Amino acid sequence: MRLKQTLHISVGALVEYSLLSGDLNRTFFSSDRPIQAIRIHQRIQDSRPKEYQAEVSVHHLVKTDKYDLQVSGRIDGVYRYPGRAVIEEIKTTRRPLVAVREEENGVHWGQAKCYAYIYCIHNDLNSIEIQLTYYNLDSDKSTEIRRVFDITELEEFFDSLVSKYLEWADTIIQWIKLRDQSIKKMRFPFEQYRVGQSKMLEEAESAIADRAELLIQAPTGIGKTMAVIFPAVRSIDQGRTNKVFYLTARTTGRNAAEQSLRILRNGGLRLKCLSLTAKDKICFNTDKLCSGDDCAYAKGYYDRINEALRDAFGQDSFTRDVILTIAQKHKVCPFEFSLDLSLWVDFVICDYNYVFDPRVYLKRFFQNGAFDYVLLVDEAHNLVDRSREMYSATMHKNSILRLKRHVKTRLLHLQKSLARINSWMIEVANELPKDENYEAKEEYPSDLCQRLREFTTLAEKWLLLNEQTDFREDLLDLYFDARRFLSTADRYDETYATCYTKAGKDLTIKLFCIDPSQYLREVLQKCAAAIFFSATLTPMQYFVKLLGCSEIARTLSLPSPFPYRNLRVLIAGKVSALYKYREFTKHEVARMISAMIDQRKGNYFIFFPSYEYMRMIHEIFQKRRPRVHIIMQEPGMSEPARDRFLARFSGRTDGFLTGFAVMGGVFAESIDLVGERLTGATIVGVGLPQISLERELIKNYFDNVDGSGFAFSYQIPGMIRVLQAAGRVIRSDEDRGVVLLIDTRYSNPPYRLMLPQEWRPLFVDNVDKVGTVLQDFWRR
Ligand code: SF4
Repeated sequence: MRLKQTLHISVGALVEYSLLSGDLNRTFFSSDRPIQAIRIHQRIQDSRPKEYQAEVSVHHLVKTDKYDLQVSGRIDGVYRYPGRAVIEEIKTTRRPLVAVREEENGVHWGQAKCYAYIYCIHNDLNSIEIQLTYYNLDSDKSTEIRRVFDITELEEFFDSLVSKYLEWADTIIQWIKLRDQSIKKMRFPFEQYRVGQSKMLEEAESAIADRAELLIQAPTGIGKTMAVIFPAVRSIDQGRTNKVFYLTARTTGRNAAEQSLRILRNGGLRLKCLSLTAKDKICFNTDKLCSGDDCAYAKGYYDRINEALRDAFGQDSFTRDVILTIAQKHKVCPFEFSLDLSLWVDFVICDYNYVFDPRVYLKRFFQNGAFDYVLLVDEAHNLVDRSREMYSATMHKNSILRLKRHVKTRLLHLQKSLARINSWMIEVANELPKDENYEAKEEYPSDLCQRLREFTTLAEKWLLLNEQTDFREDLLDLYFDARRFLSTADRYDETYATCYTKAGKDLTIKLFCIDPSQYLREVLQKCAAAIFFSATLTPMQYFVKLLGCSEIARTLSLPSPFPYRNLRVLIAGKVSALYKYREFTKHEVARMISAMIDQRKGNYFIFFPSYEYMRMIHEIFQKRRPRVHIIMQEPGMSEPARDRFLARFSGRTDGFLTGFAVMGGVFAESIDLVGERLTGATIVGVGLPQISLERELIKNYFDNVDGSGFAFSYQIPGMIRVLQAAGRVIRSDEDRGVVLLIDTRYSNPPYRLMLPQEWRPLFVDNVDKVGTVLQDFWRR
């Protein structure tokens, strides 16, 4: 006998699906204070009498002919008395409690009525009381609204919600059937596996099956994207996964994932795949506010969204363009629509921050409980520094001052509050050591936090009025910065430091997260499995630790699939790139670069650890080789400028082109210059990040943990940059190319041992040797 399929839905989602109506309002809302809200919930729950039980889970199975619908949720609390009960739902608000009592919130009552119904039928009650408790975050006061409901009324209400939803559920069930049948038939889309690809695929499959974390170092050419997507999709049909998140920070990564899914779909796979695009890149009305009063796509959003979702379900692939088309057709905000759609699709491609950043992450997925999600994290080496930023927060004195001048006389109370923050900052700036413009402290600035709290309370009150003024945007920006700062302060512990940096009249205060691994861990624990992959995850233990993986995380390191003989790696180990010797060695460095390119016409990249060093060598090299075309990376290049830069690397050339660029920059990662587009690369130095306050904090922190400070702060991040930069040279089977590493430190084991074994680098003592070895290489 075939078991009926069960569809799961939370009480919250059921109620929102059926009851939400009207405008979208994202101009200002106060619900993103999870930590504070959780604390208040707990405080209220703790204050209740002994008859009260907090966090009561409820489940109810609705049976239909074709499938079962499991409705689940968690009641904030239940007062249990003999023969009767009171269900409590707690809500935090910034709205005045008088207004809250007057304006009945249908969604809040709807949620509580569903809980009440399920509680009644599972506890044999014919009637029940519901208490909505509203807690005002500003006044620290609460109000309670109680009503009695009988089971018939609750049943009618619950059934009406369910029957509204069942039509959509039918669509979902039919879709799941279709999808799973197609996954069963899915075959690997290529005739052959590439070298290393089947191993990677098998390991990924087994990690997902075992609900494990897996880190894979796999060089270019293995076909990493398909090797992780294929088993992840297969696990959906096998019931191990109910959604896959493919996380990537770059457009190239997103394109690769979309392309792999397209190939699978062309082979017959039915899978709903969505690419999430940042709000500012998909918004129809960038100059408007996200409210029904301002933007036509927010007006009546909830009245049209269900129809838009039904329409969207006719398609499988939701790229940015598809989202824009459907959103335009139904006049709904494309960004919010894509978030709503993400609930129903099988595969989501998005930036890291949608999953890991506490302020951006898809709350609808990650807020409560653990789920059968699979995370596929592309270019995972970047997540270490990205996550540091996600869990850090910054306040700038200049922004405070600008807003203070803006609101002057018009909002006196806000102006005074900003003045108090500003004067605190002036005091701190004056106390900074005279010879330095920066300082780090172990404690967070509680005085500042108190002043910021006062500011956010006042700002919220004004923002809730929704008045349109010329300073509203600035105020909103500062308000959200302050909120971010305060919520980061809530997390502050020994993994944080406070950095004070003065630049001219500005002062920056940053709550810097030195080690975010515990927060990454929290997210990983909510997921079924996670696969981190990159061409550079050496040493693995560094990444296991900093990405928050468990100690039993699995690791896999695969060699390059390309013939070793196609790459010649030289180490000029007698030329120092140390800061203190750069003046002495700069001419030798330029000569080495010349010697490399002289052996074969073509396109070359010359990578440096800093712009300053790059410019120094550029000046000498230019004089030395006036006929060589040189292009140079500039800080903060726009996307069109970057494209123009890369377009110069356009295949076979009869001359010489050298692109001077920095390691760790946009040209040193994720760019594919296949074949003649890139002949070789020189890498000057070992890529160490510049000494900075933050790097020193990381160093000291890990020195205290286990003595690995320098390695974790400088050496490993530096060598990852080197390996990424060198990885630009060989991008296909036929590619041939050379890499010249210049620095004495490559002779030292900590650096040398991080180079891939298959490189078999050759140490060259002088310029002549560079010439002869490379002549020989190109002659073969
Ligand atoms: S279209 Fe743009 S302005 Fe309108 S609601 Fe969406 S994000 Fe906001």
